[in-house]
Amino acid sequence: MNEYQLRQDLIEAARRMNALGLNSGTSGNLSVRSNDGLLVTPSGRDYKTMKPEQIIAMEWSGAWTTSVSSLKPTSEWRFHRDILAGRPDISAIVHAHSPYATALACLRKDIPAFHYMVAIGGGKIIKCSAYETFGSEALSKAALNALGERRACLLANHGMIACGATIEEALALGVEVEGLAQQYTHAMQIGEPEILSDDEMERVLEKFRAGYGYASEPDGN
Ligand code: 13P
Ligand code: ZN
Repeated sequence: MNEYQLRQDLIEAARRMNALGLNSGTSGNLSVRSNDGLLVTPSGRDYKTMKPEQIIAMEWSGAWTTSVSSLKPTSEWRFHRDILAGRPDISAIVHAHSPYATALACLRKDIPAFHYMVAIGGGKIIKCSAYETFGSEALSKAALNALGERRACLLANHGMIACGATIEEALALGVEVEGLAQQYTHAMQIGEPEILSDDEMERVLEKFRAGYGYASEPDGN
């Protein structure tokens, strides 16, 4: 895909992230792998008025260029860069301060296997990272630790990260994670959720690997 299209898709996803209630204002940030590095959203800018030329191209070294001199890359470029550099299966990342995921992250709670759909994150749990200051290298390390081999994590006292092969996929996973965080929060308000066993989550993960959500036949089997 050409770089201009990637820039447009990133902005479209940023606007949808806010319209879906996953984030508000200029919080959150997004990235996508490009031909020779990554494209990231600029720091502290309104997604509604964002133009493709305001998206910032970064090299793997962290060097960056922009045609608009007043802009700089998202303060979280390090975790975007480090995740994309270390995970060939991931080509796009959404970071949001979504209400329920952030509420759980403020309690530094993982999302355990209270529901089988937790497996959509690629594992048996969606882990919450250790707390580190926003924009720091330490936060990037903590995020990588919490992600492990999975595609989503919470960031303590901060928000969430959702990853995908495309920006649409990353955003869709962000929606799922926020839904799970909401369900888990509600369940905890009325009792103590039963946690699914390791064996059961293994079965669920296997079904996901076998192609859940990618039905190729019109009869949906
Ligand atoms: P930026 O505006 O620098 O992307 O920061 C938003 C944010 O969510 C920091 O964690
Ligand atoms: Zn943030």
